[in-house]
Amino acid sequence: MAKIKAIRGMNDILPSQTPVWQYLEDIVRETLDAYGYQQIRLPVVEQTDLFKRSIGEVTDIVEKEMYTFNDRNDESLTLRPEGTAGCVRACEEHGLLFNQVQRLWYSGPMFRYERPQKGRYRQFHQVGVEAFGMRGPDIDAELILLTARLWKKLGLSSSVRLEINSLGTAQDRASYREDLVAYLSGHINKLDPDSRRRLDTNPFRILDSKNPDTQAILDGAPGFADYLDSESEQHFNQLCAILDASGIEYRVNPRLVRGLDYYGKTVFEWITSELGAQGTVCAGGRYDGLVEQLGGRVTPAVGFAIGVERLVLMLETLAGPRLKEKPVADIYLVASGTGSAQAAMILAEQIRDGMPGIKLQVNCGDGSFKSQFKRADKCGARYALVLGEDEMDKAVVTVKPLRDTTEQKRIERAELLNYLLSKFD
Ligand code: ATP
Ligand code: MG
Repeated sequence: MAKIKAIRGMNDILPSQTPVWQYLEDIVRETLDAYGYQQIRLPVVEQTDLFKRSIGEVTDIVEKEMYTFNDRNDESLTLRPEGTAGCVRACEEHGLLFNQVQRLWYSGPMFRYERPQKGRYRQFHQVGVEAFGMRGPDIDAELILLTARLWKKLGLSSSVRLEINSLGTAQDRASYREDLVAYLSGHINKLDPDSRRRLDTNPFRILDSKNPDTQAILDGAPGFADYLDSESEQHFNQLCAILDASGIEYRVNPRLVRGLDYYGKTVFEWITSELGAQGTVCAGGRYDGLVEQLGGRVTPAVGFAIGVERLVLMLETLAGPRLKEKPVADIYLVASGTGSAQAAMILAEQIRDGMPGIKLQVNCGDGSFKSQFKRADKCGARYALVLGEDEMDKAVVTVKPLRDTTEQKRIERAELLNYLLSKFD
C-alpha cells in the first residue's frame, strides 16, 4: 500500500532541527519579557468573515491563499493566515481594550495556500506582537528597538537591515491612490500582467513589484511622502528621531507597502539578503483603524510578525552547528542482570532529584553491554553509569567517563550523588 505523506508545504520539524527552534523560542520569550509583553494564546481556526473583514477582500491572502472549509454545521471557517485579526477578536471579546493599554505576543502556525519554496511554506510559523491603546510614535519605536535587540541576541544584527515608511491616513491614501492610478494608467502597456490586474483592485501592491520594467515606470510615479498630512508627517519624523537617537540604522523606502489593507502610518520591514527572494524576516506597522473595523471602539494599534522559518534558516548556518553539538543526555545509565532494570529506574529518579537540570537517559529494552555503550556514546553523554550484577550485589555503581581517557571508578551508592555533583559543577 502506498504510504501516506505529509501535505505539500507543511513541514515536519525533526529532532535534529528542534534545537535551533528551541534556542530561537527561548530568546524570543526572554526578549519580550524584558519589555513587559504578555503572551496570549489563540485558536488556529476562526470564522472566515473575520479575515475577510480585516485583511481585505482584494488582498493576495483573501483572494487566493486561505484554507477555507465548511464545518459539519455548515459554518465557513478558515485556518488562520495571520494572527492580528484573531488577536483583535479575542481582545474585544474579553474586554481587554477598554480604557487600557495592552502589550501582547503570540506564536504558532499560520496557513496560506502559496507555492512552496525556500522560506515560503503552506504551514509556517510566526511570532506576532501587538500593542493596543498607544497612539504615539514611541510605541512604534519600542517595537523596532525590541526587534533590533532580538537580532542582536541571536547574532543576526549584521545580516538584517531595516526599512521604514509611512502610509499616512486613509484619506491620504485615497488621494494618493487616485494620482498613482492616473499615472500608471498612462503607462499601462509597460506594466507586468500582475500589476495591470492590481491597478483596479490594489494599486499599492504595484509599488513592491519586482518586475524591472514596472520598477522603471515607478521611478517617475508620484511619491507618497507628498500626500502625508501634517499629523502623519510629524508622527513619522518623531519615530525617525527616536531611531536616530537610539543608534538604529534604517532606510526610508517610499515604496514599502504592506500586503494587508489595515495598515496606516508607520510600516516597517527587517530584510536579509541571505535568503534570496524570501528576504523579509519581520514585517509590521500601525493599524489604528482595525479594531473599529471589526466592531470595537477606535483603538490605536501597532504590531509586527516574524517569519520563524526564515529566521531558523539564517540561524542554521550561524548557530546551528554549535546547537547541534549539544548532547541529548549528560549521563547514560547502563543496566544489565536480574533486577537491574528496576534498580536503574529508581537510581535514575534519585539522581534527577539530587541534580536538577541534569540530562539523564536510562537504557530501556536491555541489550548487551556493547550495544548499551553504543547508545550511550550516540546520545553524547559524558558519563555512563553501569549497574551490572556485581554492582548490584556490592551496592556500588561503576562510573565510566566517555569523553576522556580517565579510568572508570566504582563508587559506593551512598557516595554517588556527591561524586557526580563534583563532576558537573
Ligand atoms: P511576502 O511578501 O513574503 O509574501 P507577506 O507580506 O505575505 O510576505 P506578512 O503577512 O507580513 O508577509 O507576514 C509576516 C512575515 O511572515 C513575513 O515577513 C515572512 O517572514 C513570514 N511569512 C509570510 N508568509 C510566509 C510563508 N508562506 N512561509 C513562510 N514565512 C512566511
Ligand atoms: Mg505573502
